Amino acid sequence: MNKVLIIGQGIAGALLARTLRQHGVDVRLADGALPGSASLAAAGIINPVTGKRFVKSWRFGDFFPVARATYTALSQELGVDIWSETAIIRLLSTAEERNDWSARCALPEYDSYLSDNDGGGAWKPLTGPGWHFGRIHQAARVNFPALLAAFREKTQAEGWFEQRNYTPEEAAREARYYDAVVFCEGYRGATNPFFPGIQWQIAKGEALIVRIDDPQAGNIAEMLKKTVMLAPLGQGRFWAGGSYQWHYADLLPSCEEGAYLEKHLAGMLTAPYKIVGQMAGVRPTVRDRRPLLGRSPLDPKLYIFNGMGTKGALLAPYWAAHLVDHLLEQTPLDPEVDIRRFGGI
Ligand SMILES: Cc1cc2nc3c(=O)[nH]c(=O)nc-3n(C[C@H](O)[C@H](O)[C@H](O)COP(=O)(O)OP(=O)(O)OC[C@H]3O[C@@H](n4cnc5c(N)ncnc54)[C@H](O)[C@@H]3O)c2cc1C
Repeated sequence: MNKVLIIGQGIAGALLARTLRQHGVDVRLADGALPGSASLAAAGIINPVTGKRFVKSWRFGDFFPVARATYTALSQELGVDIWSETAIIRLLSTAEERNDWSARCALPEYDSYLSDNDGGGAWKPLTGPGWHFGRIHQAARVNFPALLAAFREKTQAEGWFEQRNYTPEEAAREARYYDAVVFCEGYRGATNPFFPGIQWQIAKGEALIVRIDDPQAGNIAEMLKKTVMLAPLGQGRFWAGGSYQWHYADLLPSCEEGAYLEKHLAGMLTAPYKIVGQMAGVRPTVRDRRPLLGRSPLDPKLYIFNGMGTKGALLAPYWAAHLVDHLLEQTPLDPEVDIRRFGGI
């Protein structure tokens, strides 16, 4: 395979394009700068232990080393520092939560991910009394907006980026000039007629940007998690999110979700803060929470790379490499991510 057109330059399309280029493929990357981009609203957090029950993320040990290698190399290539490995301080309140946490910490397979009885680090004076702190190790943050802006600049300078919104039909017609067209459209993939039968469950999400008015806030490196996650952006500013909406009227930030996030923030912080921004995006989530890779049952030249759901930062590097192996070496797709699991048409 020598020539590939990629539709969509979120984190999925960007990493796929980079990996194909590394293998000598002539890539053209198109993006229509459409509203609702998940990557531009996301904090890019990688968290090994998620959910109310603190369960280790699916195949984390396989994906994290690939993510770390990919983003540190990309930082070098793009000349932008996009990768930071920082712990997450977990706020625990109820007795049940504290017991669940301690029980997890006692399990050998959680040993390198969780620790108990943490002091709360720099967050302690900003969070008020009464909290118990846990610590999540092997967490990281990828600065998606910086990565995507720098990647766009590079592809434009090198002449292989096109700012254009392709309809699926236009892209399919374009396929005659390429060996393959790969759709990396984020949530818009749910309406692409060339990939029927997929059980999408897309979820809009919103986040706030807040500035904590405390001299200590600018020095905080760790993230802080209760219902909402706070991730430091520098100079006392933090990304605070995200919310989940499975039904929504538009792609804009809303008062309701802003109020929901603020309510949770107010419960976490005693330090004064100001809301200085709000954003919204739509997560390309699939019912079985697994990525979507594979070939269209309707046109053999069309492929999909999507379904990163809530975990694009962790998943996209590993699965981009997996799809490239499939495209170039015909290695079989992992059945867990192959879209044929939905039965096609
Ligand atoms: C509020 C929020 C918080 C999140 N937090 C995290 C987090 O902390 N960590 C994490 O790992 N993940 C997080 N996520 C999820 C993460 O954003 C996604 O997993 C990931 O960004 C999906 O990337 P993508 O490239 O598939 O889609 P997108 O980022 O949506 O990109 C799709 C791109 O395709 C373009 N496009 C679409 N259709 C066309 C077309 N027909 N023609 C041309 N261009 C087209 C769009 O313009 C867009 O640029 C969060 C999401 C949200 C909404």
